[in-house]
Amino acid sequence: MEQRYFGSNQRQVAVIGQGTWYDENEDPASAIAALRLGLDLGMKHIETAEMYGSGAAEELVGQAIAGRRDEVFLVSKVLPQNAGRRTTIKACENSLLRLKTNRLDCYLLHWRGRHPLEETVAAFEQLRDEGKILSWGVSNFDVDDLEEIWSIAGEGLPACNQVLYHLQERAIEHAVIPWCQKHKVAVVGYSPLGHGAFPAAHSQGGRVLHEIAELQHATPRQVALQFLVRCPGLFTIPKASTPEHAAENAGAGDFQLSAADVARIDRAFPLGPRPARLPML
Ligand code: NAP
Repeated sequence: MEQRYFGSNQRQVAVIGQGTWYDENEDPASAIAALRLGLDLGMKHIETAEMYGSGAAEELVGQAIAGRRDEVFLVSKVLPQNAGRRTTIKACENSLLRLKTNRLDCYLLHWRGRHPLEETVAAFEQLRDEGKILSWGVSNFDVDDLEEIWSIAGEGLPACNQVLYHLQERAIEHAVIPWCQKHKVAVVGYSPLGHGAFPAAHSQGGRVLHEIAELQHATPRQVALQFLVRCPGLFTIPKASTPEHAAENAGAGDFQLSAADVARIDRAFPLGPRPARLPML
């Protein structure tokens, strides 16, 4: 599994991680087995949020990483309505309790809300001073939001920006990725498999993925995931609720696409014009 530095964070993190968006119909035993196998196969970046299942996803992650905390790059997110000066601290402490750990490797603002960014940043810095988080970042931030939080927090911060990124939604390539690369902010792409709407095998794009997959001895999803981490500073966090899916996703970190492969995918899934607002789920 390829690893790279996570923004200004001094840690190397696997390019392919594991998301944990909560589906109340899924089998918890299978989801836990998937996360554990994912860890075995190198997907050490596990990302969750207080929002997912109103804490249920964090509890599930807590079970999955029991006895293995030190090998995990563990990330959770505070809801915007909880992101005030004092409420951020409480939200983080509650997440730590559900995750059964004493620290997060990175703690993110899930998206921007009504609380001034100064308050959230001050709370993040307090949590970092107290050792409850080792770094902090943001999610769903467009360039103007990034400029604002950067002017408050300074160079090297935030550690990451977690944003929507899949083959059919490449809007972050216009400005967010260049800004983050310039300022050494890790870009973590979420919903990399289209949140369950992966290009159909018989579609034009699906056929391109299939042909490249055959050449690379990979699968179309592995090709898609590898495309999404093809540039420095990019990470991705597919969510799998079965060990079989986790194993397939982990395999995406073990090969590289050729320039010709990248150019074909680029043509099959065109970037499109820059939207007025950054897309998010
Ligand atoms: P996703 O990872 O793009 O897709 C998940 C879907 O793909 C699930 O239906 C899953 O099925 C399926 N899948 C995964 N691996 C597969 C494989 N190898 N073969 C076939 N199907 C496969 O969607 P996502 O969950 O929206 O995004 C990933 C993570 O990003 C989330 O879990 C969450 O942690 C994070 N996220 C963050 C934000 C934010 O605002 N910051 C927003 C959305 C998501 P199974 O479940 O059956 O395996």
